Amino acid sequence: KAARFPGFKTLEEFNYDHQPGADRTLIAHLGTSAYLQEAKNVILLGPPGTGKTHIAIGLGIKAAKSGHRVLFDTANGWVTRLQEAHSRGKLAAELTRLRRYSLLVIDEVGYVPFDQDAANLFFQLVSSRYEHASLILTSNLPFGRWGEVFGDPTIASAMIDRVVHHADVLSLKGTSYRLRGHKTITSTT
Ligand code: ADP
Ligand code: MG
Repeated sequence: KAARFPGFKTLEEFNYDHQPGADRTLIAHLGTSAYLQEAKNVILLGPPGTGKTHIAIGLGIKAAKSGHRVLFDTANGWVTRLQEAHSRGKLAAELTRLRRYSLLVIDEVGYVPFDQDAANLFFQLVSSRYEHASLILTSNLPFGRWGEVFGDPTIASAMIDRVVHHADVLSLKGTSYRLRGHKTITSTT
């Protein structure tokens, strides 16, 4: 598959008992990929290690298995791709081409802040998909802090407005699954 998932993770191996913020019934429903028909989005928010990328890959694999075209990249990967297209004078063509994919996964919005050009390109990607084709976005930051990522609260709220309009938002909680079973990191004794 050309989706370029960063590893293989399935919804079946996700441990819901460890993640109270993940609604099992909702995720099972999303696993049917019905939301793609309506160009709806899925937004996964939460601290590092809470399973955002795992669920995003799991949903992406389900979508691909039900015959949808899927691409996966980080937010910075998408911006780099759009910058390349833009520098060749082919931004509009690239956005049109990407709309033939029913699902784009945009992982890790928020780890690396965007400069103004990057923020504008990202906004164009979100706008071009609005009510046409789905996005799955993951972020370690709540919406209230996306202004810091995009360097501009106006562009951030315009983007959130479009992304959230037709979306399921899952807020994952707790401490990193990566650190489970480790001894308490901070100890007072
Ligand atoms: P995030 O993207 O939120 O930082 P990941 O999805 O990369 O976190 O999860 C970190 C690691 O922990 C991955 O190997 C993932 O498969 C695993 N993981 C996280 N949450 C769960 C869970 N509830 N059940 C099973 N594995 C999990
Ligand atoms: Mg991740």
